Amino acid sequence: MQNELTYLSIAALRKGLLAKTWSAREIADAHFTRMKTVDKKLNAYVCVTEEAAYETADRVDGKLANGTSLAPLAGIPVAYKDVFCTQDAPTTAASNILRGYTPPYDATSVAKLKAQDAVMLGKVNTDEFTMGSSTETSAFGPTKNPWDTTKVPGGSSGGSAAAVAAGLAPYSLATDTGGSIRQPAALCGVVGLKPTYGRISRYGVLSMASSLDTIGIIARSVADTAAVLQIIAGHDDYDTTTPPREVPDYTSAAETLRGVRIGLPKEYFTHALSKDFTAHLEQVKKYLADLGAELVEVSLPHTAYAVAAYYLIAPSEISSNMARYDGMRFGLKAEKILSLLDTYSGVRAVGFGSEVKRRIMLGTYALSAGYYDAYYKKAQKVRTKIAEDFAHAFQHADVLLTPTTPTEAFALGEKTGDPLAMYLADIFTIPANLAGIPGISLPIGLVNGLPVGAQLLSPQFTESKLLAFAGALEQKLALKLRPDIRL
Ligand code: GLN
Repeated sequence: MQNELTYLSIAALRKGLLAKTWSAREIADAHFTRMKTVDKKLNAYVCVTEEAAYETADRVDGKLANGTSLAPLAGIPVAYKDVFCTQDAPTTAASNILRGYTPPYDATSVAKLKAQDAVMLGKVNTDEFTMGSSTETSAFGPTKNPWDTTKVPGGSSGGSAAAVAAGLAPYSLATDTGGSIRQPAALCGVVGLKPTYGRISRYGVLSMASSLDTIGIIARSVADTAAVLQIIAGHDDYDTTTPPREVPDYTSAAETLRGVRIGLPKEYFTHALSKDFTAHLEQVKKYLADLGAELVEVSLPHTAYAVAAYYLIAPSEISSNMARYDGMRFGLKAEKILSLLDTYSGVRAVGFGSEVKRRIMLGTYALSAGYYDAYYKKAQKVRTKIAEDFAHAFQHADVLLTPTTPTEAFALGEKTGDPLAMYLADIFTIPANLAGIPGISLPIGLVNGLPVGAQLLSPQFTESKLLAFAGALEQKLALKLRPDIRL
């Protein structure tokens, strides 16, 4: 039964719970048992919370026994990227500066899932403070791709994507600032949703770049993704960027694509994509046409400037957000009493890894008097142009289709010495963060034995439509992707 329980959908797990085919404790147990062998290979989890999980599972089983109704996600396990504040487990952002730090409160999304009696299995790996595209900047060491353990799982939510792909959690909450949900989801063969900026509260999630950070979901199907979004979306008094808009029904069945206009941004379908990847995308286009969609070419002319603008805006915000890790308030402290300046520099020198330091320096420079206009302000103007490109494209198309990444997963260590090469891994995902629009990545096939994904993008706050279209495509593709993990 254990193997079976670790690859079921949320709906199937719930059905079995309600029918008393299995208990919430058995579901949790199956995941912890599988972790003991599989996660030795992958390093997806940075902390496992067995005690808290069994406590919640037993509460759910108690409710089942006495006939109390269960919330939609009750008894279903969840893994949190280690930037979600959790009262019941340390929250470290995979950084030495926060090693062992346990926050005094839960993030809003965590609190919402707790209120559902969702079973937290533990915290999963990420690049340090979510800065990276391969999970290699983690202070806990890299996570490996379950499809090939010599390859990266993508990042920064590599722990989330690897855990979900490997049957170590049915879904994971993660963050996406420039692609950190969609890129690892694509490279591990699972579904990744980055909703509209502000659709899900960021309260209690460690910030990277506040105007770009988005909370989202990695799961094994579009339906599972929608079921989780339904619970965690919505306004939060603690995050003023969450508008008081209604939360529509995200879980309605896959919609017909008849008459839907699907835009193909010509800047994204370049000759740089491999032949096999292109063949999968062609197949997807054909399926979409078979489903009745109309394919139209669109242009996003400022795409080429997106990565450059992002790497000025994101580090600028990072340099400000990282200032709170001062060796006094959270986590790592100076061992002896030092002057203020020596405390700051001493703790930060040993607590932060090199990618975080690089970005603090880049951002501080871009914001400094004399350079602000030339760099930061100019980048903000480019950001506006990119948002306008999308607004224009959405006059001709309901949704856009693009590859999620330029390639399948690359080798561990391949790009660690070349930050620019690493930054380019997000070339197709960054523009959606700059424009604040939602995007979803879903698997479309294998290239050299490794998964690749397609991305669908739609206007702000149209997640219902986006999920319905993605669901229709997923159904047509009917892929059964499961990595064969050699133990
Ligand atoms: N890889 C990108 C970066 O390093 C995006 C990271 C993210 O989305 N958190 O900035």
